Order: sequence, then C-alpha cells, then structure tokens
Amino acid sequence: MNTEVRDRIDIRRGDITRLTVDAIVNAANTSLLGGGGVDGAIHRAAGPQLLVKCRTIGGCPTGEARITGGYNLPARFVIHTVGPVYHRTTPAKAEGLLMSCYENSLALASQNGAEEVAFPAISCGIYGYPIEKACRVAIDTTIRFLETETVVKKVIFVLFSEGDSKVYADYLAHLENFSD
Ligand code: ADP
Repeated sequence: MNTEVRDRIDIRRGDITRLTVDAIVNAANTSLLGGGGVDGAIHRAAGPQLLVKCRTIGGCPTGEARITGGYNLPARFVIHTVGPVYHRTTPAKAEGLLMSCYENSLALASQNGAEEVAFPAISCGIYGYPIEKACRVAIDTTIRFLETETVVKKVIFVLFSEGDSKVYADYLAHLENFSD
C-alpha cells in the first residue's frame, strides 16, 4: 500500500449516524425496509422519509448497493448494501459477496460525487461474519479501489466497539509494515 492511499483511510470508534460526511453506508437487508443494528439506528436518525424512499426501491440483492438521500442525517447520502449472512453460505462465497458490497458501495459513492464515505463493519453483527476476516476484505477492497479512484478522497471505517476498532487498526498497521 502506498502512503498516499494509506492517508485516505481512517478508522474511528463511534456511531456512524453522527458523522458529517458525504455518504454513510448502511448494513441493510434485502428488503431495504429497515432492521436492527446499524440499519435501525440509521433509519431512526434519518427519519421516516428514508423508509418511504426505500419502499420505492423494491429491495436489493446480497452484494449489491443502492443509494438514497440522508434526510435528517448529517450525511448527504445513505448507501444501502446487503452483506452476506456468514453461515448461510461457504466462506469463499461469503467473501466474494462481502467484497462486492464494498466495491459496489464505493462505485456508487464515486458516481454520486461523494468525497468522504463512512462504512460500518458490514455483516459483522447479526449476520455473523468474523470481524478479523471481514476487516481484511473491507480494507483490501478499499485499498484496491483507492489506487485508481479520484472522486472518493477519504474512506472512514466506523467501529462501534473498542475491540473491533483495534482489529482494523492492527490490520492497517500490519499492511503498513509490508508497504512499498
Ligand atoms: P449485519 O446485519 O450486516 O451484521 P449489524 O447492524 O447487525 O449488521 O452489525 C454491523 C456492525 O455495525 C456491527 O459490528 C455492529 O456492532 C455495528 N453497529 C451497530 N450500530 C452501529 C452504529 N450506530 N454505528 C456504527 N456501527 C454500528
């Protein structure tokens, strides 16, 4: 990883709904009609207009992403992506789908002119994806994307727990030790 790309990745602890960035990513489910975890928090903070908008989209397959406004959120956009349910498929398939979530979300951010994008740990709550494995997919996919990307300037990983943010920080530090 080159240092220019490294400087465009941030790790923070906290509540993603509080972030003033261009786009926050939601760990949604295929219905896009809200749920628990970060999805519920985003819908509560965005207000009822978000659900009204999501109803018009007609769902989203696992691995894909859809974009809406942020309504009452400080973020301008919400990018809804559907992560894999870890135990419903093979680890290899889950990894491919999680990679697609990050790729498709970042592509949508870029197409919509979002310079700062924040991700929670997609699939790492109710969907049971082990954080150490998911973190590698999140960071590796983001690095690959940023190497050729010009619109998206910064990607922020927002982790709810101290433990999860340490996993991300340790993996980035590990990559820095092997960087060119
Ligand atoms: P999934 O169904 O994709 O597993 P969850 O919402 O259950 O999604 O969990 C995804 C991750 O988001 C978990 O690591 C959880 O701790 C975290 N999380 C929950 N609420 C928030 C929030 N408000 N901000 C950031 N991360 C959150």
